Amino acid sequence: MSLAAKRKLSELLNSLDSPSPASTPRKVAAISSKEGTPTPKKAAKPGSLYAPYSRELFLERLGMFRPAVWSYKPTSIDEVAWAKRGWICPGTQKDTVECGVCSQTLLVLSQAQGDVDEEVREATEKALEEKYAEMIVTSHKENCPWRKRGCDETIFRLPLSDPQSAREALESRVESLLSHSDTLSLNIDMKTGTLSPDTLPTLLRKPTIPPPILALALFGWSATSTNPSDTATATLTCTTCHRRRGLWNLKAGDELDLVEEHRGYCPWISAASQAGPVAGWEQLLRMMEKTTPKEREARRQSRRTGRRSGD
Ligand SMILES: [Zn+2]
Ligand SMILES: [Zn+2]
Repeated sequence: MSLAAKRKLSELLNSLDSPSPASTPRKVAAISSKEGTPTPKKAAKPGSLYAPYSRELFLERLGMFRPAVWSYKPTSIDEVAWAKRGWICPGTQKDTVECGVCSQTLLVLSQAQGDVDEEVREATEKALEEKYAEMIVTSHKENCPWRKRGCDETIFRLPLSDPQSAREALESRVESLLSHSDTLSLNIDMKTGTLSPDTLPTLLRKPTIPPPILALALFGWSATSTNPSDTATATLTCTTCHRRRGLWNLKAGDELDLVEEHRGYCPWISAASQAGPVAGWEQLLRMMEKTTPKEREARRQSRRTGRRSGD
């Protein structure tokens, strides 16, 4: 790298330092404080509560990083990383994060700006990534609790350990999907990795539910609609990674990949986010397949009876 390019890079990185409340907007990263602005705070304002143990509030913060207001970032500084440290993306200015507790705001521009050669671009973006990874912590005010502690690595984990509630949640997803079975039972090619959706009614012992509906529910999808009687507004939704897919543009012959439609970090498809040996959908499937000794005996009995009556 040329000397001039090196100097430019170092100037740029220095400009990211010291989140001072009085700083003026900068070209690459602007840090400002809203302190002193007499805007009354509503109690229920998203992100205003310090609760690093709350999965619900973590998902709420994460959901604010909508594609329209937040551009792609490398994993170490993506929306999950910011939301885990209490940041929200209020959407007033693109790529700007805000802490609802200490009121700091920060513009996160992780891409090299302007016309630079490839080498400089790569070095700049690498350096920016490292810098912002630190700033996820250090941009909070000194006394902000998010600076001391963020969410645990396991905050994303789907609550699947209790069979009863996991089953109930699956059933409520099935319920929501059944009201759109007209669209979903079309000849849509559902991709589910190595799993064949047709085997699901037997595996999950739900013979009356159409395989595509079961497959969607197993992979964490439910159907939501602002107006239940209006299919034009219905979407397939993952309430964990906040991916949505409009049902109105699905037609017979379309392909729908139940894995790829999630974001890569979604615990429904990522074992790492689920903090376990397998991803959420597989954990749920294994759990549903498991039966108690009593249930196994009942099934054996019914098979025997079935055979006898068939003789
Ligand atoms: Zn803060
Ligand atoms: Zn998801």
